[in-house]
Amino acid sequence: MRILISNDDGYLAPGLIALADAMASIAEIVVVAPDSNRSGSSNSLTLDRPLSVQRAANGFYFINGTPSDCVHLALTSILTFRPDLVVSGINQGQNMGDDTLYSGTVAAATEGYLFGIPAIAFSQVEHGWTELESAARVAREIVLHGLPELPRPFLLNVNIPNRPHEQLLPWQATRLGKRHESEPAIVANDPRGRQIYWIGPPGLAKDGGPGTDFHATAQGHVSLTPLQIDLTHRTQLDALRGSLP
Ligand code: MN
Repeated sequence: MRILISNDDGYLAPGLIALADAMASIAEIVVVAPDSNRSGSSNSLTLDRPLSVQRAANGFYFINGTPSDCVHLALTSILTFRPDLVVSGINQGQNMGDDTLYSGTVAAATEGYLFGIPAIAFSQVEHGWTELESAARVAREIVLHGLPELPRPFLLNVNIPNRPHEQLLPWQATRLGKRHESEPAIVANDPRGRQIYWIGPPGLAKDGGPGTDFHATAQGHVSLTPLQIDLTHRTQLDALRGSLP
């Protein structure tokens, strides 16, 4: 098996290194990741400037671009083969509910999925990299034993509670929950008295009942959500068709 690995926290992030180590024990790996933290970059591609690819001493490729840039360039220009799987992460912090739309971690996996390759995004629920080895072990187990009998390609979003491995509850298939709207932006003055803004944190879970990613991880389960990319609202499409003159 050959696995392409990326993330959005940057090529130096502990979560990426832990994921690469875990994958290297079961597959041939190539790591292509952003040169800096690009969390929240969603699926953006850099189109207004050229990108450069460099290689770190540990063999990781790093690019002055987004997670989507990294996977895109890996698949179109860097790799000499088509990987069997694209994995992303392990992200510092959860990507649940509406987070998945903003997440660069999910976006890196999505880019692989859009190229027709099965892909998995891994995130730890809490910040701080606690129990990272436990999360990396879960990632390895899911790739080794847990790949579902879903039609290929699939796009899986995995969130892992920061717990010692023996305290994790069984994996649970979930749907995305929903969040309340985001917290307000922070407003302050810069040193020259001009008003500046810093986008605030996401809202708390609003739809976090049983069956959701929020609920599963709060109980201590590893949450696996199959994602799709077609944003078409089917029922509104029918309503729109029925209402057009
Ligand atoms: Mn991140």
